This record gives sequence, structure tokens and C-alpha cells, in this order.
Amino acid sequence: MDKKFKILTYGCQMNVAESERMAGQLAKIGYSATDDISTADLILINSCCVRATAEDKIYGKIGELNRYKLQNPALIIGVTGCLAQKDGDELIKKSPHVDFVLGTARRGELIDIVKSFESARKKFVDTSNVSGQIIEPEVFPIRAGKVSAFVPIMYGCNNFCTYCIVPYVRGRERSRPAQEIFDEIKDAVKNGFKEITLLGQNVNSYGKEFSDTNFAKLLAAVDKIEGVERLRFMTSHPKDLSDELIDVMANGKNICEHIHLPVQYGSNEILRRMNRVYTVEKYLALVKKIRAAIPNISLTTDLIVGFPGETETDFKMTLDFLREVQFDMAFTFIYSERTGTPAANFENKVDDATKHRRLNELMAVQNKISLEKNLHLDGQTVEVLVEGASKTDKNIFTGRTRTNKAVLFPHGSENVGDLISVKVNQVQTWILKGQRA
Ligand code: SAH
Ligand code: SF4
Repeated sequence: MDKKFKILTYGCQMNVAESERMAGQLAKIGYSATDDISTADLILINSCCVRATAEDKIYGKIGELNRYKLQNPALIIGVTGCLAQKDGDELIKKSPHVDFVLGTARRGELIDIVKSFESARKKFVDTSNVSGQIIEPEVFPIRAGKVSAFVPIMYGCNNFCTYCIVPYVRGRERSRPAQEIFDEIKDAVKNGFKEITLLGQNVNSYGKEFSDTNFAKLLAAVDKIEGVERLRFMTSHPKDLSDELIDVMANGKNICEHIHLPVQYGSNEILRRMNRVYTVEKYLALVKKIRAAIPNISLTTDLIVGFPGETETDFKMTLDFLREVQFDMAFTFIYSERTGTPAANFENKVDDATKHRRLNELMAVQNKISLEKNLHLDGQTVEVLVEGASKTDKNIFTGRTRTNKAVLFPHGSENVGDLISVKVNQVQTWILKGQRA
């Protein structure tokens, strides 16, 4: 009988990409995907631990899964990803209905682990070798979308921002060989994917272990692959976004005019204590350089409020900084203390009420800017890659501009994957609405 699996994915795009790869592995040993979790023979939770909120949600979900295990004692439950790496044995102790825990460097062994669990039914935890070589399984990913494909180019992070747990649970930076990346992209294109997003914790570090390449060169080479109609990447650390990369983007064929460039904060004292290795002035100069080279570039960012020691003056500087930069969009987070990171031991913690107030103020300032930026697009015609029906109305389709803005429009004759022109006639903070032009 056909066995069914369900993967629950939490966290960033890297986890989405890795879940797709694990789906490919499971397909190889006779499993097929199901949307109905109650019929699954195997449930994988691909987990995140970047903030406490993610962790709490995942532990809540793991708790809920016990009821399926009670209904079906043969059900296999596995936890993979960052929280699995962080909590290891502890995770099985807290949730005894979990059967195996697989660390981030062990993903390539999923097939063997599932097979051996099926036969021996022996609980299993492996979080070893977090910085070890990533073995890409010899399978193609089963991708969630039909148009846009995520392609990891490197794993891990060496930056050790003082608030961040990622370097501990993802290990040191390791790049995939370029040929492997090209082959994966060519396969995606062959299967109808039009948009490629290259993924890494810090893509600018790509290829440091190889003598003959770097991220700019990789991007330029991918831009030449036939059939890649749109090319994106994330995430870039501002400290090493090179002139060569800006040049490749400015002269690119299908490289989209968008950079996600997390700044995290807008005061030098906090940036220093976050170990971000750049100043506000350096960041502003970088933005200026990027905008001079690529005038219609869209810039988005990440920001953290409530970092230990943040004063009202620091915070006001950050609001001024936002007004100055004029990001198209920002993802804003409340600082979450992560045990084992340097900042967990920093003094002068910010109280919860202040954190929330600052988050709201920050969002209010940025939302106004995002809306103003979008207002410039009112009445303009933009190129949209059609992704499919919107969540709430099958007659309304969605897609994205090259600058990564979501666009809604009434569905006509266009197909998923088409590049179409849409005339914007209504703008909101996070979306544009329009008619096919
Ligand atoms: N590698 C990427 C981001 C990885 S984590 C980069 O450096 O740009 C994604 C975002 O989560 C970060 O940009 C940061 O804004 C946020 N983040 C990371 N650790 C956090 C913490 N402890 N509390 C709150 N937000 C955090
Ligand atoms: Fe975390 Fe900093 Fe690495 Fe990004 S660059 S993953 S924020 S340590």
C-alpha cells in the first residue's frame, strides 16, 4: 500500500527549500504527499528556533500530533531543522511521541533513517557534525510552487550577530559546487519554473572556499541559463555586498531589481553590540551606491526592536534612519533572547511593554513609507509573473512585480507562469491592485 507523508514547515525560505528536498527523498522510498494529516503514515516537522515565538508554536504543534499517534500507533513522527538541532535529546524527552530527531547537517540521510525506523522502530536522535559537509541527496526536490523555485547555494553562517542562534544550529558556511547549482536550475527550468531564487544565510559569502568564484560570478552565470526569466537571491549581509555584485545586477538580463538587505537597526551603538560590522553611515553609502547603479531598485530589510541596552535615543535614531532610507518594505521583529548567544548575557534588558510600543511605532513609520512608495506606482504598468488564484477568491489572481511587490488582478485568459502587463489602479501598504494592460 502507498504510504503517505505530511511535512509541516516553519521558518525561513531555506526551510521551505529543504522540506521540498526531503519530500523528494521520501518519494524515492514509496511515500506520497497528503494534505490530510490524519491519513499520514509519516509526519515531519521541519522546525525553526530563530525566535521564542516560533519555538513555542512548534512545541504546541508537536503536542497536538500526539492525538494522531494515539489513533494510529504505527504513525512515524520526525523533527528536523533548527529546533531539532538545538534541542536534540531534550526534544524527545519533552515529547515522547516523537520518533526521531534529525539535525541540520543530517538531512541528506533521511531515507536511511526512515527505513531503519520502519524496520527496527527504535527512537533515534542525531544532531552530530553541525558544520559537516552537506550531502545533497541524489533526488530532485518536489517543489511547492509551479513557477518559482528556491535553490540553496550555501548553508550555514559565520557572522555570529550577537542576538542570533543561526550560526549555532546551522554550523559554518559551506557552498554548493556551482555545477550542482546549475544542474538543479536547468532541471527546474525544464519542469516549467520561470523564477529562480538563490538562497543562503548570507549569499555574499558564496564560494569563499573555492578559488575561482564568488557570488557575483555565480549570479552572472545563472543569469545566462536559458529559460531563467527572473532571478532573485536572499539574503545579503550589508558588510560584504560587493561592487562587483552591484555591477552584475546593473548589467544583468533577468536579475530582478530587488535586494533584501537586513539592516537590523539604525544606531551605531546598537549595531556595534549586535556585531553587524557596519555603521549607519556605511549602510547609507551602500544604499546610495546601489540606487545610483540600479535606479528602480526595490530595497527591503529586517529590523529588531528591544535589543538589550536600546535607549529611546537609539530608537528615535532608527525611526529617522527609516525615514531617510525609504525602504519599500521592512520585516520587523521584537528581540527574542536566545540562550547561548552573547546578547543573552547583555545587561539593560528592555521590558515587554516598551518592546511592543516600539514595534508599533516602528511599523507605523515604515507602513506610511511603504504606502507612499507604492503610490508612485499608481497608474503605472508593471510586469507581473502570474502565480495563480489568490487565497480568498479564485477569480482574482496574484503575481509579483520584478521588484517583488504582490499584485492582484481579475483573472482573464492568462496562465500560471505567464509574464503579463498589469496597470495598477489601487495601491495599499503591502499590495498593488490592477487590471491587465
Ligand atoms: N541571515 C539572514 C537572516 C536570518 S534570520 C541575515 O542575516 O540577513 C532572519 C531575521 O530574523 C534576521 O534578519 C533578524 O532580523 C531576525 N532575528 C534573528 N535573530 C533574532 C532574535 N534573537 N530576535 C529577534 N529577531 C531575530
Ligand atoms: Fe544570524 Fe547574523 Fe548570520 Fe544572519 S548574518 S544568520 S542574523 S548571525
